Amino acid sequence: MAVVLKTSSSTELRPVTALRGVGSALAVKLATLGLHTIQDVLFHLPFRYEDRTRTVPLGSLHAGIRAVVEGEVQLSEIAFRGRRQLLVRISDGSGWLTLRFFHFGAAQQNQMARGTRLRCFGEVRSGPQTLEMVHPEYRRIMADGGNMDSETLTPIYPATEGIQQARLRQLSTAALQELKQNNIRDWLPAELLPDPRWPTLQAALQYVHRPPPDARLELLASGHHPAQRRLAFEELLAQQLSLRLLRQDIKRDASWPLVQGTELLQRFRNSLPFQLTSAQQRVWQEIEHDLALPQPMLRLVQGDVGSGKTVVAALAAVKAVACGMQAALMAPTELLAEQHARNFQRWLEPLGIEVVLLTGKHTGKTRAAIMASLASGKASVAIGTHALFQSDVAFARLALVIIDEQHRFGVNQRLLLREKGLDAGRYPHQLIMTATPIPRTLAMSAYADLDVSVIDELPPGRTPVQTVVVPDGRRNEIVQRVREACLQQRQVYWVCPLIEESELLSAQAAEETYANLVAALPELRIQLLHGRMNAKQKDAVMEQFKSHQADVLVATTVIEVGVDVPNASVMVIENAERMGLAQLHQLRGRVGRGSAQSSCVLLYQYPLSEVARTRLRIMRETNDGFEIARHDLEIRGPGELLGTRQTGLVQLRVADLMRDADLLPQVQKAADLLLRDKPDHVEPLLTRWVGQSERFGKV
Ligand code: ADP
Ligand code: MG
Repeated sequence: MAVVLKTSSSTELRPVTALRGVGSALAVKLATLGLHTIQDVLFHLPFRYEDRTRTVPLGSLHAGIRAVVEGEVQLSEIAFRGRRQLLVRISDGSGWLTLRFFHFGAAQQNQMARGTRLRCFGEVRSGPQTLEMVHPEYRRIMADGGNMDSETLTPIYPATEGIQQARLRQLSTAALQELKQNNIRDWLPAELLPDPRWPTLQAALQYVHRPPPDARLELLASGHHPAQRRLAFEELLAQQLSLRLLRQDIKRDASWPLVQGTELLQRFRNSLPFQLTSAQQRVWQEIEHDLALPQPMLRLVQGDVGSGKTVVAALAAVKAVACGMQAALMAPTELLAEQHARNFQRWLEPLGIEVVLLTGKHTGKTRAAIMASLASGKASVAIGTHALFQSDVAFARLALVIIDEQHRFGVNQRLLLREKGLDAGRYPHQLIMTATPIPRTLAMSAYADLDVSVIDELPPGRTPVQTVVVPDGRRNEIVQRVREACLQQRQVYWVCPLIEESELLSAQAAEETYANLVAALPELRIQLLHGRMNAKQKDAVMEQFKSHQADVLVATTVIEVGVDVPNASVMVIENAERMGLAQLHQLRGRVGRGSAQSSCVLLYQYPLSEVARTRLRIMRETNDGFEIARHDLEIRGPGELLGTRQTGLVQLRVADLMRDADLLPQVQKAADLLLRDKPDHVEPLLTRWVGQSERFGKV
């Protein structure tokens, strides 16, 4: 039962220097970990545990485990196997183990002379002759015995350079001692906790920092222990509250209600060569409704690759312009910004709307001219990369900010662009677009500051892309397939993962692939595109491919986001086994945009890891972005999938959005109640869980 403990002074808020053994030098280092107060130390939680409560005989070691071992040095020598290294062989009568050090000094070598008894801790791997540990923690065992065994499972903390695990353990020991003397304030009323059997905050902290030896390591490792759940709940709540507050803050601001422009919008819609899908219409209505309000819109549009997000963004831009205001669209890459600019110019200039492009490559006079037209309001729509929010770019009357492929940006960048529109106390509306579809509960948590619209329908006439998975040995067949497609007037992307040969990864270089394809397919027009080319060259290549003056585009993953060439119907991806699901899905989304049957060939090289095999199978089995995201979530976890930085999700310490997804509905409820009944508990919770540096406020 959680009891709200009343302490007169908040001991936990005292600085780290109040702990025994912490001086100002250490405090400076701790500050880099975000540890300023005793509370920060208490909530700097272990991310895994090791069982060092017993010593494992060398004879019963096997590769893959982490263990404490003990033995006598039999042999100590410096070897040159590619690199200079120190090899130390120990034995305890039951078996052998080699310790391998790549960084070592003479003193260290002397310490481990033949005959010395050592106690070591590390990960056991199989080596050329014996099992080994690379750079183990070790200690000489003296007669009086410095002991490495411990009475609890050993917590491993997120560390930083210059602070050793041992030091972090000392610190938490000291902080726990404080905790015993002075209870920590529990900000959660018991009735908000979903499970009455959970331990108190006090007990939960004690447990996760120092689990007893009989604690079940698997339970702890999987994060399902009630102590962890108790803390995870509180963390998710703090996270939720921080995004809610951000949203509240923004929603309190004034914006420009955009209500006019029906006629111009109608003209725009009539000029399009297609009808909006019903999903696009529905989402547009949601946006139009938001734009008409005097508070800033904060809307995320989720839609699978190819679902037609761009035209919805264009509708919003037209609306802003029709109301006498400006709109800015920010894209993550130059290539994508250029493509958007071309589309917007083609769509909007016939309506008398001036669209300008501003990217990093615009310098000097050109840049000055573009900036002048934005500052004067002559240009109504700006398309660009993050060059758009450089400090000297000013708008005359920016009312709408559109962010495309949001997962590539950080929340802070979004907030910066928003500041650009600040004018007489009013902020622009924000429209955020993403092709990373995520399940609903996760969206509620990750995007708690946003309203979410989903384009859950593809434009008609698309035939699903057929995906085949082919070993690299059958490359020649694929080359023939490319020839046939091109002879039927289709176009082909051929994607290579890296630009330069890398011995380590044996990557097929784009340049080499290009040369090989040119040699194999002399009758075809083949172009090469990679990140090392300058913007002009990239432009020229892209333009040629778009206008079908090239048949095959050999490219690196620079074409991953947004590129739209409907006549391209074959996508070949080399070394597909090295790419993640989201990336493969994005790349595959470059084809299947026209009415022709499209195909995607995933070339792979042996050996295939288990995860790679699974990914390739999923790609072959489904085209559905949601389905793929769900699998991706299982494989990589939400932090990786969404990018913690990108969503405003702070790095979670105990909680895991996937594992603890069942808590999310209760987290929502608790957030509502706390904001309503105990608003003064919100700030202390944020201080506790969401570090100052990670807080997103108004910039
Ligand atoms: P994404 O959602 O991946 O950004 P795009 O906006 O690039 O997708 O749209 C993909 C393609 O579909 C573009 O060529 C676009 O012109 C076309 N498109 C968009 N909406 C429709 C529609 N309603 N009917 C037919 N084609 C459409
Ligand atoms: Mg797009």
